[in-house]
Amino acid sequence: MIDEERLKRYFLDLVQIDSVSRAERAIAQRLARDLEALGIPVVMDDAGSATGADAGNLIARIDGNVPGARPLFLSAHMDTVAPGNGVRPVVEGDIVRTDGTTVLGADDKSGVAIIMEVLRTLKAHELPHGPLDIVFSICEERGLLGAKALDVSRLRARDGLVLDCDDPHVLFTQGPAANHMRWRIIGVEAHAGVAPERGISALQVAAEAIAQMKLGRIDTETTANLGTIQGGTATNIIPNLVEVHGEARSRSVEKLEAQTAHMTACFEEAAARHRLTVDGQTLQARVETSVERAYDLLNVPDDAPIVRLVLQAAATPGTTIETRATGGGCDANVYNGKGLRIANLGTGMRDIHTVKEAIDLQDMSRCARVVLELVQINAQDQE
Ligand SMILES: [Zn+2]
Repeated sequence: MIDEERLKRYFLDLVQIDSVSRAERAIAQRLARDLEALGIPVVMDDAGSATGADAGNLIARIDGNVPGARPLFLSAHMDTVAPGNGVRPVVEGDIVRTDGTTVLGADDKSGVAIIMEVLRTLKAHELPHGPLDIVFSICEERGLLGAKALDVSRLRARDGLVLDCDDPHVLFTQGPAANHMRWRIIGVEAHAGVAPERGISALQVAAEAIAQMKLGRIDTETTANLGTIQGGTATNIIPNLVEVHGEARSRSVEKLEAQTAHMTACFEEAAARHRLTVDGQTLQARVETSVERAYDLLNVPDDAPIVRLVLQAAATPGTTIETRATGGGCDANVYNGKGLRIANLGTGMRDIHTVKEAIDLQDMSRCARVVLELVQINAQDQE
């Protein structure tokens, strides 16, 4: 029942609408218009002002046509990474890619197109469905900011899907929580040639700390990385400020907190070793630490209703889907942190965040058939 030709055309339309993060207005307006043409009321929330974007999240609430059926949540994000403006899709058989100058934006316009195609098919064939809460989010690629700003009390559904990963045979149900950290190491500035004994090098403190730090893959559930380091002004000045940015991720919140504390302790211990007395005054290197929870755990149990629905729906159109853990984060992590049970289903997007990004239209259609099927199976589940 999925109209593959219509799905393809719509996907090609969407990828040609510029929508890098914080500039989602044009695609949001198009989607709002198309939802309204289907008779579906849609509102835009105020996430735009919270995130600095020119549009908010789109929320469409569709009434069910089966009394007592469970509400279901479906979501994809509207924004893309750069270079994402002026996309010229190239279609070769079932494969869609770009001319090599931009990303394709199948991440995540494949998810958006699939949801729209499912809604059109439900409508055209008057298929049974429960209440549907559709969210097209902004700023996913900017730290999941749209999802973070979403007020989930506006939703009826507590279970559902984000369509925002690659392999159409995979349902991500487990993923790490992540912290983003920033350390400012503060030393004492001095002339490097004239008075080096009056200075504390923030760079040296940072180097000692980093040399002691466990980084990379910490264990099967935990990773850590320092991504940037900046500091110093000139070779003849002992630098008094170095700023280091890093992250840690783990599928265990305890391990995440332990790794975060370890990284901070390395900086603090190194700073404590650098003390100096100048003109009777004691000077000490110090560290300012800021830790921010970037996103929460994705942790949907295998016996959760949404997992059962996806596996059951996959069996019907003769495809297979397995649950898996990912090392990445997406809007689903944020929604789970807000108490929803949302898993992430693959749409077929490949080589995302590169100008080689591509998608196989057969994969996209397969995902659409699974989603259409699970919406109908869900309609049989009474609350
Ligand atoms: Zn994405």
